[in-house]
Amino acid sequence: VAKDNGGSGYRFFTEEMNRKALHRMKMESSLRKALDRNELMLYYQPLVNEDNRILGMEALLRWRHPELGLILPDDFIRITEETGIIVPVGRWVLQTACVQTKRWHDMGYSDLFVAVNLSARQIQESDFEQMVIDIIEESGLPPRYLKLEVTESSVIQNPEVCIAKMKTLRARGITFSIDDFGTGYSSLSYLKRFPIDALKIDRSFISDAMNSKGDQEIIKTIIAMARNLKIDAVAEGVETEAQKNFLASYGCNSMQGFLFAHPVPVDQFMNLLNRQQQRLASPEED
Ligand code: C2E
Ligand code: MG
Ligand code: MG
Ligand code: MG
Repeated sequence: VAKDNGGSGYRFFTEEMNRKALHRMKMESSLRKALDRNELMLYYQPLVNEDNRILGMEALLRWRHPELGLILPDDFIRITEETGIIVPVGRWVLQTACVQTKRWHDMGYSDLFVAVNLSARQIQESDFEQMVIDIIEESGLPPRYLKLEVTESSVIQNPEVCIAKMKTLRARGITFSIDDFGTGYSSLSYLKRFPIDALKIDRSFISDAMNSKGDQEIIKTIIAMARNLKIDAVAEGVETEAQKNFLASYGCNSMQGFLFAHPVPVDQFMNLLNRQQQRLASPEED
């Protein structure tokens, strides 16, 4: 703070701090009530193969704030993690996603999987594995249709404990993906110790891939790593045909992105499924 500000710089600084602290406190207290007030909802975004066929969907959390409107996770997940609110919220997400997916199975879409994001804080809970097992059993969804997404940073803090918990769930048929892959520092030998089934290539590499040889090399390397580990490579944030063709040409055949569909609420996801069903029933109209 410069002296010739006559102190005003300092005052401005504290006011800014107060404003931020106040905003955070308000967010925190309304987040605590959000679950009970039914303000949280899940959007679903399809994951497709190279023929645009829906293989499953990722459940993505949304907060319908009574005054602020629809809030995206990047603006509130951090607070839920720091306060521990993510524990009940994450449980709700998992339960809602499993129940909804079972509903779609019962309607005839019986091979859809659902991907659910996890925070480190949830995995650290001592009853984490039991919580997941209880929820999946109650939902009636066969466990092999649940994919849990973790990030490198969330499993790296306490690898031995995470590996043990992941193995317990994997023994039940639940699978694991590493989300936002490529933004952390995992080596192939390190990764090999984790019981994972897929690497989700971070969106940042996909979005610049057509202009950046460097990003293309990273994508190719990740796809090769996945092949080496005998697991899937999944691309997120696919927005153009060029990106899709590039990925498909290197053998990445599970993709997610605005090119195929945005994340949408349940009824609109249902429309996507129905439309695909009609297309498959009358392929000549393609
Ligand atoms: P993520 O798990 O990597 O999810 C993918 C994000 O990329 C989603 O953002 C999705 O809307 C966005 N996306 C998908 N395709 C495209 C595309 O083609 N272009 C662009 N620009 N974006 C695309 P969203 O829904 O805002 O979620 C952001 C992050 O918040 C997620 O990233 C995930 O880390 C976290 N998150 C979302 N739901 C949950 C949840 O239930 N629990 C936890 N712990 N985290 C969640
Ligand atoms: Mg994810
Ligand atoms: Mg991701
Ligand atoms: Mg992400």
